Amino acid sequence: MSSARAVFGFVRVSLGMLVALSLTPPAWGYEHGRSEYGARLHLTSFPARVRLATPVPGLSDGGRGAMLRAMATWSGVNCGATRVSFAYANTGEDAPIEVRAVREGWRHGQAIAAHTDVESDKFSGAILRVVIELDATRRWSDVVNVPADALDLETVLLHELGHAAGLAHSAQTSAVMRAGLKPGHAPRRALDPDDVAGMCASYAAPALVKKDERSVPTDPGRSSLWVPRALALFATLAALGAGLAGWKGRRKARGISRSDPGSARADA
Ligand SMILES: [Zn+2]
Repeated sequence: MSSARAVFGFVRVSLGMLVALSLTPPAWGYEHGRSEYGARLHLTSFPARVRLATPVPGLSDGGRGAMLRAMATWSGVNCGATRVSFAYANTGEDAPIEVRAVREGWRHGQAIAAHTDVESDKFSGAILRVVIELDATRRWSDVVNVPADALDLETVLLHELGHAAGLAHSAQTSAVMRAGLKPGHAPRRALDPDDVAGMCASYAAPALVKKDERSVPTDPGRSSLWVPRALALFATLAALGAGLAGWKGRRKARGISRSDPGSARADA
């Protein structure tokens, strides 16, 4: 009988802990790019125009199809207040984001196949101009079964467009914004919840540029998680406390009932 009650108490505490843990938001791995003065990088108008300045060698369409698909994937993210979107720049149209396949004089070293340069306003973090460079001497692929010595162009462009919108690298292994794609890697053409959360942390706010965000050293999106986490911890401790109190109470009641049945009845 007493062991059954102990088990019941344990189950109750465990359930309380599970509820508390489910209230804790997942730990995101994303980071935002920062301007020279620490402001969060962000695009200020949508759709953001993208131009494929030089075709990617080895692909029949020069990489246009992969680029359009990568643009469409990010454009499908709806953060509520602001819809992040990219559009292909027509001839003669101004494009703040440019993609170039570099044939000679690759500046970023052997380990890096693609690089994104983001020029921003150092006070507000507003993105002014983005240049995405691809090492044209590498083998680029547009098929689902990526050859062992090739890189999937759509995966790489999806990642670089994330930088173009202000995201930095993510610590989340499954994220598109995770750094370090190796040749022959399986395509990663869908966004991870971590990528979407990172993007929406920048663009869900009605005002894109907040004055109080200037020179803030820590990421406000991350620090705001302290409140729900503290509440979840409190709920866990409360559940533990309630379970223990209930268990002790029952033990005490049983003790009294053995020595003095009268007072045990009065407590019930
Ligand atoms: Zn990167």
